[in-house]
Amino acid sequence: MLKKLGFVSKLLLYKAQGFLSLKRCDIMSVINEYYREDFLKLNKKDIAVILPHCLIHDKCPAKFSKFDGVLCSKCKLCGCGEIYALAVQKGYQFYISPSVGFTKRLVRRKKLKGVIGVACDYEIERGIHSEKITNNGVKIDSRDIKTQGIHLNVFDCVKNSVDWEKIKKLL
Ligand code: SF4
Repeated sequence: MLKKLGFVSKLLLYKAQGFLSLKRCDIMSVINEYYREDFLKLNKKDIAVILPHCLIHDKCPAKFSKFDGVLCSKCKLCGCGEIYALAVQKGYQFYISPSVGFTKRLVRRKKLKGVIGVACDYEIERGIHSEKITNNGVKIDSRDIKTQGIHLNVFDCVKNSVDWEKIKKLL
C-alpha cells in the first residue's frame, strides 16, 4: 500500500513541478523501478522490445510492414540488428516502430503485457501527461502494460542514438 501511495505521489509531484518549472526527478527510473517486480514475472513471449525508427541508419535497407513496423534485416549498419538478435534469442518479441500511435497498435494487436521501450525526453514527457499511468501498468485500452524504459540520448527524430549496452543489460 505504501509503495503504491509513494508511486502515485511521485507522479503527481513530477507533474506539479513541471507546471511550476521546478527541477524534477528522472520519472522513467521511478516508473521502471515501480513496475520491475511485476515485469519480471511476465512470460517473455508476452513482452516486446520496441525501438524507435529514429535509431535506424539513414541507409537502412529494411522493408516496412504496416503491421510489424520496420522489418530489420540485421544488416549491421546500426545497432538495432544486434538488439533484434539478442531479443529473439532471449524469447522476447522485437519491433521497430515509426510512431507512438503505431506502438500502441502493436500493443493491442500482439496482445502484449510488457514492453521494453526506448524514447526521447519529449515523448516521455508527452506520455506522462497523456497516458493513464496506474499502479498496475500503463493503460492501453483495457490492458495494463508493464514498461521498462530507456532514454534516447537526444531529441532528434531522424538521427538518434542510445546507450546500446543499457538495452542489452535490460534484456
Ligand atoms: S540493422 Fe536493421 S534497422 Fe539497422 S540499418 Fe540494418 S536493417 Fe535497418
